Amino acid sequence: MSPAPSYFSVSHPGAKVASEWRVTIGDDGVDFAEPEEHQALRAAVADIAAKFGPRYYAGHAAARTPCTELWQTLGDAGFIGVNIPEKYGGGGGGLTELALVCEEIAAAGTPLLLLLVSAAISAEMIARFGTEEQRQAWLPGLASGAVKVVFAITEPDAGSNTLRISTTANKDGDDWVLTGTKYYISGVDEAQALLVVARTGQDERGGRLSLFIVPADAPGLDRHLLPVDLLLPERQFTLHFDGVRVGPGALVGEEGEGFRQVFHGLNPERVTGAALAIGVARYSLGAAARYATERKVWSEPIGAHQGVSHPLAKAKIETELAALMTRQAAWQHDHGVPAGESANMAKYAAAEAALAALDAAIQAHGGNGLASEYGLLPYWGLARLLRIAPVNREMILNYVAQHSLGLPRSY
Ligand SMILES: Cc1cc2nc3c(=O)[nH]c(=O)nc-3n(C[C@H](O)[C@H](O)[C@H](O)COP(=O)(O)OP(=O)(O)OC[C@H]3O[C@@H](n4cnc5c(N)ncnc54)[C@H](O)[C@@H]3O)c2cc1C
Repeated sequence: MSPAPSYFSVSHPGAKVASEWRVTIGDDGVDFAEPEEHQALRAAVADIAAKFGPRYYAGHAAARTPCTELWQTLGDAGFIGVNIPEKYGGGGGGLTELALVCEEIAAAGTPLLLLLVSAAISAEMIARFGTEEQRQAWLPGLASGAVKVVFAITEPDAGSNTLRISTTANKDGDDWVLTGTKYYISGVDEAQALLVVARTGQDERGGRLSLFIVPADAPGLDRHLLPVDLLLPERQFTLHFDGVRVGPGALVGEEGEGFRQVFHGLNPERVTGAALAIGVARYSLGAAARYATERKVWSEPIGAHQGVSHPLAKAKIETELAALMTRQAAWQHDHGVPAGESANMAKYAAAEAALAALDAAIQAHGGNGLASEYGLLPYWGLARLLRIAPVNREMILNYVAQHSLGLPRSY
């Protein structure tokens, strides 16, 4: 007699979004062993990233120049498009595989921020909501790494509140005409196109949103470098859309359904952001453990002092917990189970773990923690950014308070 089916139950008392999901995953329950193909994927990505390494990354971060060679090498090996359907030249995997790629490159000291926008949001949304023509036009290039499509939602007067965005797209005959301003848009200088969120109407909650693919060199689209004091290879831009005209084929998905569609892409962005943070944490803890084992200023290596080892051990625990939640969120997304709660929790926990790990690693290095030779400070800006973006820590706490605990909305 075969054993009774086992279930993975995801239920949250009091939660408004928390349907009683019960997903059969086979006879053996939840399997925490990492499949061989994922181990092989990790090893292959780590191998490529190690050939570039922390000095390559730090050089590009200091010069604010993109890590093009690393991106293209990963693309040639099939890892940039690992989540894109095979039919369009991708690896046929899911968010789980893309998150592994993000984690491994960061753990090797070479995190790539644009994977969060181009591979996680844009490729996901075009694959899921795009027309066949749009898929044929964009996915093969995104899969090979030859094309980048960046994502533009943030505006000066509508940061965390997406429904307040004021960039509009108005119908003119068959065309759409976009007008407005976006800021903090990463990688516009590296991209062939932008996936732009714009207002195409209004309802009682605020703007009715739609998504458009806009060529980066479209007439009427002005870009200005937005200077930031972060060490990052990717640059940020303010964009002015001054009557940018695009054809009917630029609309992605349904008119007015942009909010729902964007949320489908934001979970992958949060999960890959979490994965990048976990990689940064692993990189930092590895460096700290090596240093604290070798460095002797008294009779024992400094790692023997609990003032050094405990912050590292605590950060290690936090990193492993964040990694588990990240894996759950990716799994849920890939299995069509609502992943919003886990994706938010994973992003929160991973960003905090990355900052704790990096801070503890810098402290364990003493003065050397600030030295170029030890390569830790180049990651501080990215780790700090991940507490703010793609969604800030406080909006995640709002989400959990409201949706997971059923508390009243505070804003
Ligand atoms: C380097 C960098 C790269 C970026 N890349 C992109 C990109 O490629 N594309 C893109 O569209 N955007 C991008 N962003 C924008 C980023 O997503 C936003 O900065 C982020 O979502 C926060 O929005 P905001 O800066 O407008 O903060 P605001 O919404 O102004 O909030 C400021 C702070 O107030 C607090 N806060 C706000 N609302 C609440 C509330 N209701 N309850 C409690 N606290 C609250 C939070 O602490 C928050 O950090 C990038 C930002 C940076 C810095």
